[in-house]
Amino acid sequence: MENIGRFRDFVQSFTQFIAHVGHNEERVFADGKAFLSELITHDDWLPEQFANPNPERYQQYLLYCDPMERFSVVSFVWAPGQKTPVHDHTVWGMVGVMRGVEFCEEFGLDPETGRLNDGNTHKLTTGGIDFVSPRIGDIHRVSNALGDRPSVSIHIYGANIGAVRRHIYEQPEGHKKTFISGYSNTVIPNIWDRSSGSVAN
Ligand code: FE
Repeated sequence: MENIGRFRDFVQSFTQFIAHVGHNEERVFADGKAFLSELITHDDWLPEQFANPNPERYQQYLLYCDPMERFSVVSFVWAPGQKTPVHDHTVWGMVGVMRGVEFCEEFGLDPETGRLNDGNTHKLTTGGIDFVSPRIGDIHRVSNALGDRPSVSIHIYGANIGAVRRHIYEQPEGHKKTFISGYSNTVIPNIWDRSSGSVAN
C-alpha cells in the first residue's frame, strides 16, 4: 500500500515553505531542493495510476496544486523512447528523478537571430535533481534514457503548470509555438484520508 502520508506531509511542509519564501527563486531552489529530495529518495508513496506509462506519449499527471496556484506538483512518466518537444516553462521548476534515468538537452535562444543554440546535455539518474527557470536557463528537451523500462520523475513548478501559456520550439530555427500543456489525468490523489497507509517516515 502506498504511503500517501509522505506526500501529504510534503504538501503541508512545502506550502509553509512557499508562504515563507514567496517568489524568491534563489531561496526556493536552495532550500526547496531538500523537500523534493526527500520525496524522490523514498519511493513508497506515488499511487500506481500516476506512474502508468502510456504507449502513445509521455504522461504528465497532476498530483497537487496549491489553492493559490503558487506551486504545483506533477509526475512525468516516460515509456522507453519517449521524449518531450523542445520547450520552456516561464516559471521556476525543480525536476527530480524517482525511477530510472532521464536525458536532458539544454538550449539557449540567440536574441539576434532567434535561433536555438545547443547547450549542455546530461543524464539525470535516480535521486538527481535539475532546476529550470527563465533566469538560469529555461529551454530543454527531456527523454527517457532507458530503452527497456519507464522512467518517472517528480516536478515542482512555481505555478499551476498545466495552465501556463508557454512555448514549444522548432529546431534549429527556434520558431516558437504557444502551448498550454494541461494534464493527463482528470482526478488527483486523495491525500486527506488519514485512516490508512499513514505510517509516515
Ligand atoms: Fe521541462
